[in-house]
Amino acid sequence: IDWDIETGWHDARVTPYGPLMLDPAASVLHYAQEIFEGLKAYRHADGSIYTFRPEKNAERLQRSARRLALPELGVDDFVESIKQLIAADGQWVPDAPETSLYLRPFMIANESFLGVRSAQKVGYYVIASPAGAYFTGGVKPVSIWLSTEYSRAGKGGTGAAKCGGNYASSLLPQAEAYENGCAQVLFLDSEEGKYVDELGGMNVFFVYKDGTLVTPALTGSILEGITRDSIIQLAKDRGHTVEERRFSLEEWKRDSEAGEIVEVFACGTAAVVTPIAQLKTPDFTIGDAEAPAGELTMAIRQELTDIQYGRLPDRHGWLTRLDA
Ligand code: PMP
Repeated sequence: IDWDIETGWHDARVTPYGPLMLDPAASVLHYAQEIFEGLKAYRHADGSIYTFRPEKNAERLQRSARRLALPELGVDDFVESIKQLIAADGQWVPDAPETSLYLRPFMIANESFLGVRSAQKVGYYVIASPAGAYFTGGVKPVSIWLSTEYSRAGKGGTGAAKCGGNYASSLLPQAEAYENGCAQVLFLDSEEGKYVDELGGMNVFFVYKDGTLVTPALTGSILEGITRDSIIQLAKDRGHTVEERRFSLEEWKRDSEAGEIVEVFACGTAAVVTPIAQLKTPDFTIGDAEAPAGELTMAIRQELTDIQYGRLPDRHGWLTRLDA
């Protein structure tokens, strides 16, 4: 769908996949005025195709648009854009267990203008790619790496927006995580460097012995994960207390060593729920790399995927049918 300042959104269309033609002066190439979303289409046992809470992605795209001075796309237009793609290409939604079609809506500033101001021409696109099961051979707990030098987002910055720049700046710390044998990087808050923010591409939860779950509050520097929000609901449904608050690295270390924290997991659309066995830092480690996945971690993972794949009733009205 195209947008320009005179006509607003216009010319919605589905076209064959292919390269985008961009002018070398296109604003997105210089000032990173770009936002995106990530969600999945799931094939149910009867062949029908659903997606999970797409209005949440649409609302997040609107918030990202506001922060990046891009035009807001209506929630209905967002959902319709995905339905149109499925109408054209629904055969690409795989049906093997735990597979899906990953959907990537994105918006770019596409005005040929080198001055620094918000662009008056914008494009919104949706592309898709079949995704295999994230874990093959069973869910494996991972180690994560603490970035001591870099943070993901600063106060008043773009941390709560899903924009390319955030990911560009996390590539170097992410590479550091890989070098240290870890799957993902953990960022602390940028002001005090004390509080847990999130991973490079996932939110994080801590499970206490008494059944309480703690997850970092949405302070403006972390991404408002849709999986995070759904897990808070599912945990509450199970009778757990969920605390959204600032949570320090020191607390994590202390309560883990005291045996109070019994499970840690990360969550996001791609992997759903990933157990975290260990945090590695240059100075110390928390947890044991060989620790098995936690019981509640796996139960919540199972429940959420069962809802997504239609194996459990959709009691919260989270699913939207895409192929009808
Ligand atoms: N934090 C970051 C930085 C992410 O990139 C993602 C993935 N979109 C998440 C958290 C999890 O968000 P969601 O559950 O909506 O996928």
